[in-house]
Amino acid sequence: MANPCEKCPIVEKVACCCNSNPETGASKNIPIKGTCGMKGKRKLKILACDNLGTDGYCEIYEKRPEICKIKFCEKISQWA
Ligand code: SF4
Ligand code: SF4
Repeated sequence: MANPCEKCPIVEKVACCCNSNPETGASKNIPIKGTCGMKGKRKLKILACDNLGTDGYCEIYEKRPEICKIKFCEKISQWA
């Protein structure tokens, strides 16, 4: 079965579950696409788990912590 979390936008993902490493608490700034309404594009960054790639996918998905495997939210049906 496909992982419905793969369809979850990175901003929502970070807001709800991947904002820091659940085992170490480590986080990093990753760039996200967007504009802020000012002239030209601005580089926006968001604080995320140090294992979250800039593409929004977990870089250690197959070996992610157990807590990540059981943590699901009510949005899952939205992205399934
Ligand atoms: S658990 Fe919820 S917020 Fe987290 S990635 Fe999955 S659908 Fe998105
Ligand atoms: S280890 Fe992966 S699944 Fe767990 S919080 Fe970090 S990015 Fe998300």
